Amino acid sequence: MYRILLLVALGWIAPYSLLGQTSDQGIRNAFHSISSHEMLDNAKELTSPKYGGRLSGSPGYMAAAKWVAEKLKAAGVKPACPDSGYLQLFPNAYSEVLSAGSVELLKDHQTQGRKYRFPDDFFPGSNSAAGKVKGDLVYAGYGISAPELGYDDYKNLNVKGKILLLESGVPYGANDSLQKRWEPYSYHRYKFSHAKEMGAVGLLYVGRVANPNTSFVEKFVYAHVGEEVAEELFKGSGKTYAEMKKEIAQKMQPASFDLKKRVMIQAHTVFHPEGTSCNVVGMIEGSDPVLKKEALIIGAHLDAVGSPGTLFPGALDNASGSCDILAAAEALARSAVRPARSVIFIFFGGEECGLYGSKLFVQSPVWPAQKVKCMINLDMVGNGRGFVLANGKSYPELLSHFKMANDQFLFRDFAATEVRKNYGRPRTDGAIFESAGYKTIHLYTSGTVKTVYYHHPLDNTDGLTPEIMEDAAKLLYLGILGIANDRSL
Ligand SMILES: [Zn+2]
Repeated sequence: MYRILLLVALGWIAPYSLLGQTSDQGIRNAFHSISSHEMLDNAKELTSPKYGGRLSGSPGYMAAAKWVAEKLKAAGVKPACPDSGYLQLFPNAYSEVLSAGSVELLKDHQTQGRKYRFPDDFFPGSNSAAGKVKGDLVYAGYGISAPELGYDDYKNLNVKGKILLLESGVPYGANDSLQKRWEPYSYHRYKFSHAKEMGAVGLLYVGRVANPNTSFVEKFVYAHVGEEVAEELFKGSGKTYAEMKKEIAQKMQPASFDLKKRVMIQAHTVFHPEGTSCNVVGMIEGSDPVLKKEALIIGAHLDAVGSPGTLFPGALDNASGSCDILAAAEALARSAVRPARSVIFIFFGGEECGLYGSKLFVQSPVWPAQKVKCMINLDMVGNGRGFVLANGKSYPELLSHFKMANDQFLFRDFAATEVRKNYGRPRTDGAIFESAGYKTIHLYTSGTVKTVYYHHPLDNTDGLTPEIMEDAAKLLYLGILGIANDRSL
């Protein structure tokens, strides 16, 4: 009880205390109804094979979206899209990966052949064209031709009919205004279509992660390989892969060359240009006749990377965030103390394909942007000991509600950072809201407890710490209620 009294004394629950002690009990009941067991069950549901790894655009993703919509409905969270209920639909082409395919170093007079293994050595390309390509292997650095930056990985290089070994990202590392000039070249899509334009027939992309944030390019076959494979492909060239990568970044000069090896890549995919995806959007209407016109937006992406070769469950990324906001929505829906402002919960689709869902929402908002108090985004919030509220320091009036909730009820490590301008390409749904002018806070966990398997078949529910998920939902429930009822905002 003393904590409640303390909070009243601190003014934090002033809006509720007017309602007397029963309201405090009402908050406690909803708070304690959030259960890690239930949340883990939900995470197991979303990561189960029936949803196929929730690849945005695929029927598996749509089934998962409908499951979430049903949960919202059952909890009494209302549909928020004026014409389409819970689902804000959008087109989303995707590729079905039927098997891992193969990556092979071909044997010739000087090279020992080798078949690489999935998933230890390579991952199939999520948007690779189907078929088989065979060719000489050329290291083409970052695969960038940027005349205005005086940088061209293809200079004096003939890649016609060849297969490229390519880096992701850009050679320029600093986060400053020059990085902005490199941004157009940082997209995987640019690199793939440019490689094809230059005449390459396929590519091995360094970095063993599954990634649907690429484009389907007609007859262009690719796969992702680990750095160990890149190192092996460099053997006999007189340089190591690691040295070469470092050298390019240091000198900011391309160092492309023929690796004098032949490789074969095989992809077993079906392109679905007709794919459809959606955001799932629910809302709890504010209880105050005036303040209810204002809203808070709470978001997490529901989609993951599908089943390229095997099921990639997408537990931490981002069944965790989805289950966190679902639990907070359910608690808020059953809370005896109502939020005065309205609260919108969005489960984004298409995040992994290029932030499609958040871009769509920002372009076609279900709520007028100038009436949105804040956006809180959760991505990979399910493994750790503490909380980080990135950007929170720049919005102390919002942060204080979360800090108070943590200080008084959750006792987790708690840190906040200031808004830091990002000159590279946006990487999260929150970043899309941020650049559209919304006050955006990214909620993360700190102090990782279990091994993180990012975009990997082992990103399953064993890698979650359900206790932090429960506390994240509790933090959200209290923080949302605090902000929604703070009349000084
Ligand atoms: Zn994510």
